[in-house]
Amino acid sequence: MSNVPAQASAVIIGGGAVGCSVAYHLSKLGWSDVVLLERRQLSCGTTWHAAGLITQLRATQSLTQLARYAPELFPELEKETDVSTGFRKTGSLTLALSNERLEEIARNASMARAFDVEVEVISTADVERLYPLLNTDGVTGAIYMPNDGQADPTNITQAFAKGARMNGAKVLENTKVIAVKTENDRVTGITFERDGERGEIKTDYVVNCAGMWARELGAKSGVNIPLHACEHFYIVTEPIADLPREFPVLRVPDEHAYYKEDAGKILLGAFEPEAKPWGQDGIPEDFCFDQLPDDFDHFAPVLEMAVNRLPLLETAGIHTFFNGPESFTPDDRFHLGEAPELRGYFVAAGFNSIGVQTAAGAGKALSEWMDAGAPQQDLWDVDIRRMQPFQGNRTYLQTRVTETLGLLYADHFPYRQFASARNVRQSPLHERLEAHGACFGETAGWERANWFVPQDELKNGVKPEYAYTWARQNWFAYAAGEHQAVREQAGLFDMSSFAKYRVEGRDAEAVLQKVCANNIAVEPGRIVYTQWLNAHGGIEADLTVTRLSETVFLVVSGAACAVRDMAWLRRNIPDDAHCVATDITSAEACLCVMGPNARSILQSRTAADLSNEAFPFATARDIEFGLTRVRAHRISYVGELGWEIYVPGDMARHVFDEILDAGSGNGLRLCGMHVLDSCRIEKAFRHFGHDITDHDHILEAGLGFAVKTDKPAGRLGDFNGREAVLRKKQAGLQKRMVQFQLTDPEPLLYHAEPIRRDGVVAGYLTSGNYGHHLGAAIGLGYVNCGPEETADDILASRYEIEIAGVHVAAKASLRPLYDPRSEHTKA
Ligand SMILES: Cc1cc2nc3c(=O)[nH]c(=O)nc-3n(C[C@H](O)[C@H](O)[C@H](O)COP(=O)(O)OP(=O)(O)OC[C@H]3O[C@@H](n4cnc5c(N)ncnc54)[C@H](O)[C@@H]3O)c2cc1C
Repeated sequence: MSNVPAQASAVIIGGGAVGCSVAYHLSKLGWSDVVLLERRQLSCGTTWHAAGLITQLRATQSLTQLARYAPELFPELEKETDVSTGFRKTGSLTLALSNERLEEIARNASMARAFDVEVEVISTADVERLYPLLNTDGVTGAIYMPNDGQADPTNITQAFAKGARMNGAKVLENTKVIAVKTENDRVTGITFERDGERGEIKTDYVVNCAGMWARELGAKSGVNIPLHACEHFYIVTEPIADLPREFPVLRVPDEHAYYKEDAGKILLGAFEPEAKPWGQDGIPEDFCFDQLPDDFDHFAPVLEMAVNRLPLLETAGIHTFFNGPESFTPDDRFHLGEAPELRGYFVAAGFNSIGVQTAAGAGKALSEWMDAGAPQQDLWDVDIRRMQPFQGNRTYLQTRVTETLGLLYADHFPYRQFASARNVRQSPLHERLEAHGACFGETAGWERANWFVPQDELKNGVKPEYAYTWARQNWFAYAAGEHQAVREQAGLFDMSSFAKYRVEGRDAEAVLQKVCANNIAVEPGRIVYTQWLNAHGGIEADLTVTRLSETVFLVVSGAACAVRDMAWLRRNIPDDAHCVATDITSAEACLCVMGPNARSILQSRTAADLSNEAFPFATARDIEFGLTRVRAHRISYVGELGWEIYVPGDMARHVFDEILDAGSGNGLRLCGMHVLDSCRIEKAFRHFGHDITDHDHILEAGLGFAVKTDKPAGRLGDFNGREAVLRKKQAGLQKRMVQFQLTDPEPLLYHAEPIRRDGVVAGYLTSGNYGHHLGAAIGLGYVNCGPEETADDILASRYEIEIAGVHVAAKASLRPLYDPRSEHTKA
């Protein structure tokens, strides 16, 4: 096949908006012999029928950064390729129809300011001025984003493809990738089919941009890409006389609807609460510019509300009823990055209805990742490594995506939990916790008790169910009680969801010394808190390492990090090293007893000496407990005296019963994850993925105490990131992690609220929660600063946190506001 090269620097699979963007951006970075293969025609999958809405603000800073790039790039792309992207900056309008939604959009507006996105909170009169055709009954408020707009998805795709070709890429249609070839867990090439013949291309990199086909294609290579197609509906009216062209894109999330002007017609699309999954048995081979059958009954409730909202729809007449499939993921976030299972196998798929607007940013971010060998911005929100193996299950996906499509326009209440596809992964203590009134939430599939209904209220019929609101939720008082128990008596947490890895072998110490920034060459029985750093000093993982013996270590990390950590660890074990890492998360349960009474509670069930002298902080021992043996780790994430008790899953219930019994006269209370978080934020313990990411330098994160630049270089050399730490020490900090306490005890903090320093936005909160002991909401966030600024300079400023447009005064601290000397932990 003369047209098809035998070799390529990268093969991109799929010619939708995303694949073409990846080809364009890679070729711009100098990857000139990139090949893009499309099984049929460019944009024939999901892209061709997208509504083309382009918005800038997403739920997090990093996603916003990706979204903002599209409207910046389109004019440049048009100039470069002479292909119109159809981009029109019409602005966008989002309406609130309830006070809860108003709070949400007002908080979004504040967040937009933190991310430097232009936004205006506007009145109903302004809405009527901007959108005169609208019925504003029931509107409680609105936001207007002047830089949003709409574009033409097919043209965007063609522009990317042309730009890629102009930079040396080959874009080949009617060429289907059949398989990805591998050797030693690395990509070596692909096989394809074209005109009924098969061929091969040698390459070290493939990028799976196969949209709703991506899961099946990945599975052929053992790569897990959890996504499932759903039907997505819109209608287009007949032409409407005198319809103005320049009115904004309109979103009415409370009515599940979006509207845009489309060549003199109105396009009305829906994100209805219960979606229709499609393609459970695979996507048809001949799918090409296809659409699915109408379903008027399904669309009717949305249409009915729309006719009330935009009365001209009543007489406009429907020209097109469109139903097209597109892929959704278990958490409504797309998948980006290198697959943990296979080196050189990259993924950009599962775009949950924002693939056209995100194609530019995602293509750029992924290309930079491939080019540099590491992501060039924080991408953890969408990193393929956040997905768990079980999430590739088709029935799970089919069940979950029924919910996720509608969640795009649902109220995004804090602490909102998925309602579907639950109870896949349970701790051995699940039924015990349930019987004690646990309200469960889900992380990485794990059902975890988030809070408990106290026994007396449970008996009175109070149900452990969330009543969501932006204000204090129904469990606020229960959490306050749990918090008080931890600070004054004792709390029992089931932390069986902790990710746990056993690292063993003659070279285990050398491998971990290379990976960890702290010194793990300690005596058996010592626990070390450490980070894994990348070459820039950014934090890849935040965990504890316990030396169990000369050759065996136990690494403990957050529940959501198992796939990511194991991939990082395995890639840092040299081929010739005598070292094996095994994920043993499900083998051991973990019960944490935390609080001033923890010692006396545990002591009553063990002959082992738990005194400070015999069992100091940051040590671990095998001890007899009740009728069995456990491994007790003296460590705490809530900032109190306490032990984590690790026990094989089959004996967890026995240990739980013993602890509960021992604690019954000692004020022990079952506690959930929400209080774990509010305790840790009082103590200013960082949370991986929010406060610390691979793009936060360990020194700027305030974790320099856990870095040992002077530890001896091990057999495998200096630890990863050491040079970057030394460089930062020289150059000085450009931002600093600061803890804030609001001076007003009422308002609540969640995340992404702007930090105002002397009246100017100087950062945003990376996490927030209520500090029940300190008596107000607490936040952590980076404050931008100059390298010459001292701690005193930073603290001398006046701080406010912006919450839904209101500036609330806050006290700032660089030391933990709770127990700065860790006297409680070491008691
Ligand atoms: C009704 C509707 C409205 C939408 N509105 C918007 C909107 O307003 N804004 C927005 O941003 N997004 C919107 N979307 C979502 C958007 O269309 C998608 O997120 C986006 O098109 C996904 O692009 P993609 O490149 O990932 O997938 P696709 O466009 O599906 O591209 C994947 C390509 O891979 C090819 N392929 C698959 N397997 C192989 C193989 N083995 N070998 C070679 N090629 C292969 C397919 O043929 C296909 O062309 C909408 C979607 C729908 C259904």
